[in-house]
Amino acid sequence: MAYNLVIVGYGGMGSYHANTILKDNESIQVIGTFDIDEARKAASDVDGYKTYDSYQAVLDDNAVDIILIATPNDVHKELAIAALQAKKHVVCEKPVTIHSKELEEIMDAAIQHDRLFMVHQNRRWDEDFLTMKTIYDKNVVGNVFQIESRVHGANGIPGDWRHLKEYGGGMLLDWGVHLLDQLLVMVDSRITSVYANLSFVLGDEVDDGFQTVITFENGIQALIEVGTTNFIQLPRWYVKGTEGTALINDWSLNGHIVTQNRGADFEHPKPIKAGKGLTKTMAPPSEKAITKSELPAYDSPTEGFYENVVAVIEKREEPYVKNEEVLRVMRLIEVIFEAADKNEVIKTRL
Ligand code: NAD
Repeated sequence: MAYNLVIVGYGGMGSYHANTILKDNESIQVIGTFDIDEARKAASDVDGYKTYDSYQAVLDDNAVDIILIATPNDVHKELAIAALQAKKHVVCEKPVTIHSKELEEIMDAAIQHDRLFMVHQNRRWDEDFLTMKTIYDKNVVGNVFQIESRVHGANGIPGDWRHLKEYGGGMLLDWGVHLLDQLLVMVDSRITSVYANLSFVLGDEVDDGFQTVITFENGIQALIEVGTTNFIQLPRWYVKGTEGTALINDWSLNGHIVTQNRGADFEHPKPIKAGKGLTKTMAPPSEKAITKSELPAYDSPTEGFYENVVAVIEKREEPYVKNEEVLRVMRLIEVIFEAADKNEVIKTRL
């Protein structure tokens, strides 16, 4: 049996779900859309999806099994709770809400009405992330102690609502939520301290980027950075372990690994002239001292996002994206805002 899904918010991401992610899905069919904007209703018509005249009409339609929320972030909570009350399953775009408290209310409603609520943390399936997670899990560079995860763009903050606080705009909520979610999936340890700074170089009321340093109880330190004013990009991932360093430059998986050799033919580096000085510390290691390798094949989740949604609805599987995990990320975002606001390192037990 196929489940019937209606998309609420037929903008950039809503239409991407319909026309790309769910296009050939055999278990879920998109039967309609609801958007408050006439132009987006017309676009839905052109794309061949029935348009509903009101959200209530979607809720009242017994044929609807799943509602996908793909509106700006400020209305996710009210739309989600109304859908759960109407006994619909709900898939919600990230960031799930603006504040963690709102997610707690949604989680209560999902339990009360016994319906699925799952957040589309799609970047858990990104190849660059899965490759770095494999390197981490298999100790390919020894025990990892430093993680740098970045995305750099040069186009400023996109769209209209992403510039505004009341809609949940800003890059920490928009892109930060992806990178922080990936980090917490990778590192299985409590967070003990957080430092952060937000960037406002474009003059918006919300951040156009940020840097945060997160320290875990197991000693790992992570630098997470999002920038929208970077005309030269730094690598997507730079990770150091006790035996080497791993680099992934981009989403196309350009990158490599360098590990150190500890064999008998190990050669100490020779001093080099660097700038106006002499250095052995910063001299490149000799060829015999290191091995350069390709990035390893990565381990994939066994199911795709929507496959897992169906399996959870049918009570065959646990959710791959758990609401408690999403809640932890939302709480971390609040600590990051606090650290940046106070310009202090915040001690925590998250
Ligand atoms: P968008 O502005 O392109 O689209 C949002 C649509 O929602 C608009 O058409 C708007 O008219 C409609 N809308 C607003 N309020 C509504 C309401 N109350 N009821 C019905 N429709 C309403 O924005 P977008 O870029 O598509 O972002 C939408 C959501 O998707 C956001 O939460 C965003 O963070 C998320 N998103 C996720 C990813 C991802 O990779 N997971 C990528 C982009 C966007």
